[in-house]
Amino acid sequence: MNIAENINEIRKHLPSKVELICVSKFQSDAAIMQAYNAGERHFGESRVQELCGKYERLPKDICWHFIGHLQTNKVKYIVPFVTLIHSVDSVNLLHEIENQAAKIGRKINCLLQIHIATEENKFGFAVDELPAVLQQNNFSNLHNVNVCGLMGMASLTDNQKQIHDEYNCIAELFTTCKQVFFENKNDFTQLSLGMSHDYQLAIESGSTMVRIGSSIFNND
Ligand SMILES: *Cc1c(COP(=O)(O)O)cnc(C)c1O
Repeated sequence: MNIAENINEIRKHLPSKVELICVSKFQSDAAIMQAYNAGERHFGESRVQELCGKYERLPKDICWHFIGHLQTNKVKYIVPFVTLIHSVDSVNLLHEIENQAAKIGRKINCLLQIHIATEENKFGFAVDELPAVLQQNNFSNLHNVNVCGLMGMASLTDNQKQIHDEYNCIAELFTTCKQVFFENKNDFTQLSLGMSHDYQLAIESGSTMVRIGSSIFNND
């Protein structure tokens, strides 16, 4: 299987309204260009330095998604060109994105990352913490960030039911947030859930964006 065939195979199982983000972290420029030449334009990276290098070298019509933990002191490097930051995991980070985006007159699309997995080392707002955070601040005072939805990662497990339960839980939180806190915000529409091994479950739970890496780039 090559990269174009892998993509073709995935796209066969993807509803047309679900966006495919090709997760290209650790992949070479040449591998990314194979996906690009197969028609893909949305790529996801998890490290700032790697992303900036790829942005410089690769075609400018690529839409770059940031999906990793973002340190506040590195926000300024990606704000000039990033399409969507999936991994906003603190109010502080959102304010720094606002500050840096205001300086250059951009509005940055962001998702709030939800911590649902049982692993401690994952980032994000806890499910029962987010409503209180939004109660205090629905971010309508921020003019250079656009909160477009939620993102989450499931636990590292083979237990399909657990993964599905976790995705459903985030989807429920999304619906509640939309009704209670983003009622008048037409852009609050995105649910970024699902990776190579669980994207079908994620789509069943209502995912609008799947982040797929190994099934595209690894020849296994
Ligand atoms: C690496 C990564 C992915 C892609 O995972 P695969 O299992 O390779 O598809 C998706 N989301 C995030 C946040 C990642 O870091």
